[in-house]
Amino acid sequence: MNKREFIKLAGLAGVAALGNPTGIIAAPASRKGISVLDGNAKAPFELPPLPYGFDALEPHIDKATMEIHHDKHHGAYVKNLNDAVKGSPYENLSLEEILAKVKVEDKAVRNNAGGHFNHSLFWKLLSPQKTTPSDKLKTAINGTFTSYEKFEEIFNTAAKGVFGSGWAWLIVTPGKKLSVISTPNQDNPLMENIVKERGTPILGLDVWEHAYYLKYHNVRAEYVTAFWNLVNWNEVDKLYAAATK
Ligand code: MN
Repeated sequence: MNKREFIKLAGLAGVAALGNPTGIIAAPASRKGISVLDGNAKAPFELPPLPYGFDALEPHIDKATMEIHHDKHHGAYVKNLNDAVKGSPYENLSLEEILAKVKVEDKAVRNNAGGHFNHSLFWKLLSPQKTTPSDKLKTAINGTFTSYEKFEEIFNTAAKGVFGSGWAWLIVTPGKKLSVISTPNQDNPLMENIVKERGTPILGLDVWEHAYYLKYHNVRAEYVTAFWNLVNWNEVDKLYAAATK
């Protein structure tokens, strides 16, 4: 299937949802927890600008990859999400409410809401400036994984172990513990009906080939190693603090 056919199919799935009421109540959820992304924007969703230049993450992530990744890939998720929610029970929900409620079979909403959320978060989790985790987060990491080095190793194993496309995550579980998980495609840890181990994502790594292929080709492990030079620990700290409040 080429991309155009996929988009067409994804669009059809959205239309199918129209004529097939899913029973989802289109009312604001009183879900406890934090807002991972700022605001409670509803459709039509917009592509957020990158918080740094396309070339700011060089040499670890190259300019061309960032341009295509942000403008084309993320841009397509936003457009397809807006098309998919139009006239559906998801239309009046915020992005995080959509993720919490989306049903497994509502593939266009599931894939594109996940794609929009995951990328919006990912850009914020990267930084050209070198940052370090707070003492509070370091203590939690050491307590859960025995050491920071061991945590990186476990995260790297999860990232390298994703078969095909997907994401590796550091999450805060509902019991406020840290955990490393991975999800396939554009699924993410906020999807209550879909992921096995739910939680609030505080760090994520995109391991789709579109995230690294131009520079690293088939060698995902080198991209995963380079990622650690770019982690915006200030942002991770903020999300950790909010998720453990
Ligand atoms: Mn991506």
